[in-house]
Amino acid sequence: MGAKIISGNELSKKIRQQLRVQVEELNRKGIYPGLAVVLVGSDPASQIYVNRKQKACEELGILSYPYALDEKTSEEELLTLISDLNKDPKVNGILVQLPLPAHINEDKIIPAISPDKDVDAFHPENTGRIMNGNPVFLPCTPAGIMELIKESGMQVEGKKCVVVGRSNIVGKPMAMLLMAANGTVTICHSRTRDLEEECRKADILVAAIGRPEYIKGSFIKPGAVVIDVGMNRLESGKLVGDVEFSTACEIASAITPVPGGVGPMTITMLMKNTITAAISK
Ligand code: NDP
Repeated sequence: MGAKIISGNELSKKIRQQLRVQVEELNRKGIYPGLAVVLVGSDPASQIYVNRKQKACEELGILSYPYALDEKTSEEELLTLISDLNKDPKVNGILVQLPLPAHINEDKIIPAISPDKDVDAFHPENTGRIMNGNPVFLPCTPAGIMELIKESGMQVEGKKCVVVGRSNIVGKPMAMLLMAANGTVTICHSRTRDLEEECRKADILVAAIGRPEYIKGSFIKPGAVVIDVGMNRLESGKLVGDVEFSTACEIASAITPVPGGVGPMTITMLMKNTITAAISK
């Protein structure tokens, strides 16, 4: 029996149509949501992500203000740009594409973004709000995953949820959102003693480790919903997730593909946050 494939592309399309209508309504009231997209250097993967974000803005009628800065841009120059964007009334959201070049300290840059323009929800004030259960902006990847889980038809309440990965961007906020939805949450990481055993207890399994096809079908409880966050480029150029799709498909009840699963939803949630920022200005 094959699992239901939860298409992030399809779900994104549906949500983006709704967001487009919302932007049109805002435009009629004289509100024009705008997103500054800041890229430092020329990392090819980052360039692809930034292009996708700008295209999504275009699709929805959100104004995008791109800043492509030289690899050698200093920390101070970047801080100056952020300070200017913080003050710019046209800019509702500021996105600084990560990772930054090694000479720029991410921990100085992210807190410099005004919390009410921090549409990635990485500022300590926003991560604190997520932790406290009163977020203004939901973290994009985890928020997109919550929508994908909803689409699977599985209720989170009372379910055993296992998140593999404890990064600040995915694993930790993911666990917070699942817990806020009344799931019983376990977080696994590289020091987890028996990962396979832990994963096999999950009704909802979220894999965010960055290891190609690491989670096999044998890790999965029959009927589980499996969300694959991983984006791993193989030497052949093929993009694969953290889950071995072919074996997982045989055991799970629903699964997200890579590509076309979590990725497009992350960008859609970024758009949603930009609209939220414009409304709450
Ligand atoms: P990080 O590298 O920041 O974190 C990886 C986490 O996985 C760490 O907590 C690490 O544990 C854990 N881990 C690594 N290896 C193992 C293992 N063998 N067993 C158990 N746990 C392990 O990655 P990110 O969270 O930023 O990203 C994870 C993946 O998701 C990547 O492939 C990334 O490209 C993708 N991604 C996709 C997005 C999307 O929109 N589709 C958005 C963001 C990320 P420890 O803490 O102990 O080191």
